[in-house]
Amino acid sequence: MSNTLYIDGQWVAALDGGTRTITCPADGSEVAVVAEATRKDTERAIGAARAAADEQRWASVPAPERGAFLLRVAAELRERAEDFARAESLDTGKRIDESRQDMSDIADCFEYFGRIAAVDAGRVVDAGDADVLSRIVHEPVGVCGLITPWNYPLLQAAWKIAPALAAGNTFVLKPAELTPHTAILMMRVLEDLGLPAGVANLVLGAGGEVGAPLSSDPRVDLVSFTGGLVTGRAIAAEAAATVKKVALELGGKNPNVVFADADYDAALDNALNAAFVHSGQVCSAGARLVIEESIAERFVSDLVRRAEGIRLGGPFDDAAETGALISEAHREKVHAYVERAREQGARVRCGGRSAEGPSADGHLELGEGIFYLPTVIDRCTREMDCVHDEAFGPVVTVETFCTEDEAVAIANDTVYGLAGAVWSQDAGRTQRVAGRLRHGTVWINDFHPYLPQAEWGGMKQSGVGRELGLHGLGEYQETKHIYQNTRPAVTGWFAEH
Ligand code: NAD
Repeated sequence: MSNTLYIDGQWVAALDGGTRTITCPADGSEVAVVAEATRKDTERAIGAARAAADEQRWASVPAPERGAFLLRVAAELRERAEDFARAESLDTGKRIDESRQDMSDIADCFEYFGRIAAVDAGRVVDAGDADVLSRIVHEPVGVCGLITPWNYPLLQAAWKIAPALAAGNTFVLKPAELTPHTAILMMRVLEDLGLPAGVANLVLGAGGEVGAPLSSDPRVDLVSFTGGLVTGRAIAAEAAATVKKVALELGGKNPNVVFADADYDAALDNALNAAFVHSGQVCSAGARLVIEESIAERFVSDLVRRAEGIRLGGPFDDAAETGALISEAHREKVHAYVERAREQGARVRCGGRSAEGPSADGHLELGEGIFYLPTVIDRCTREMDCVHDEAFGPVVTVETFCTEDEAVAIANDTVYGLAGAVWSQDAGRTQRVAGRLRHGTVWINDFHPYLPQAEWGGMKQSGVGRELGLHGLGEYQETKHIYQNTRPAVTGWFAEH
């Protein structure tokens, strides 16, 4: 399986023959061996994407036809959904039903961008002169470097690929090195449906080696990145040298604000989902419970009881409610975060260690996989690192408030600004608080839903730009003003001497 790079319409091995073994984090079993590229492979892929863009191989296809192509991609993804879901679950360790949901969301995303690809053909502006025709048109940006993380491997890639193709661009995709499979399957779909060679390219391998040229190479016009804050800063700095367009979807430290008058059972159940779905490896996880003092004790005790009952297991374990962490290195990071919270005086109410014993269906020994127990940490204060740093694991911190102003101040006290939620049955209060939260998405009496037609992205250090929605398409378009004088005339500005 080493011919897994897709460059200029060909499946090829890495130029230096490098490979990487992919393992399933739930039990350490080998999933496959794939190509491990180097910088030279990325440079080849960029060259192919540049040539395809310069020859307008895709941009010259009328927008309605590009849209129709994306609808065919969506149909094909629905057809092959089970293969995709299995591949995603083996790479990530996530439950198969979560992966199935992801595949359905991915098809929805392609359908959405397929439908809007031809909707906005630009506009005519009134130049205030009957002899002037002035038009605003949208054009593809050109070559896009797309770099994606391991938590929602194909979903994050789809949020970039679909609008990039809708707008007529070419691209080089660099998925996370630990989770390459659904990206490979995706390229097969694009190939099978007849996308011209060089429009879509795939390179696999380590970020610093294979991803980095996508932000530094002058032949790339835009780099769109989803991943951690530190990597995002490095990419933005690299991209600055050639003044590329940059789109960044970075981390979050997302407050879940619960007022005493909230629907208690719904708030509790959703607090659990917010923190522990996909073992908390979600950029918008509700990892910061901000709760009104008067109900805090009861609510947190119930949360702890429910968290202790969460059943862990492998991707195909029907009895499991959540799965493994992505890697041993990541588990160590999560545990170090919990230990630091302990050292700084917070109280670990449950979890706080790796999981052991049999999995939910008894088929797996959790100690052999990379599992971490759902963890609730209370008595947190705003000085502690645990309420500011992203754990990106099954860990929720608890802070309490007494007034609405205090709740807003706590929720906004973070360098991140990706998402947040407010729970209350007072409609005026929920609207007031939603208006004051500096986060790109705010849920009222819910947590986690998103829509392909609604923009997604972060304020502050959670990112630059937006994915999904109309702005999500706009990220992949250049805007040009074409001004035509239909009655050319001498201006007489300079006299003839
Ligand atoms: P990461 O930053 O370590 O890696 C993301 C991608 O960047 C990977 O493909 C990696 O190989 C690549 N990369 C690493 N160094 C690079 C470099 N110097 N140049 C180019 N590419 C490089 O992040 P991760 O650990 O894979 O993902 C977790 C992070 O992603 C979390 O912080 C999470 O919040 C964030 N995330 C954000 C969103 C969002 O929508 N805002 C969605 C998912 C994940």
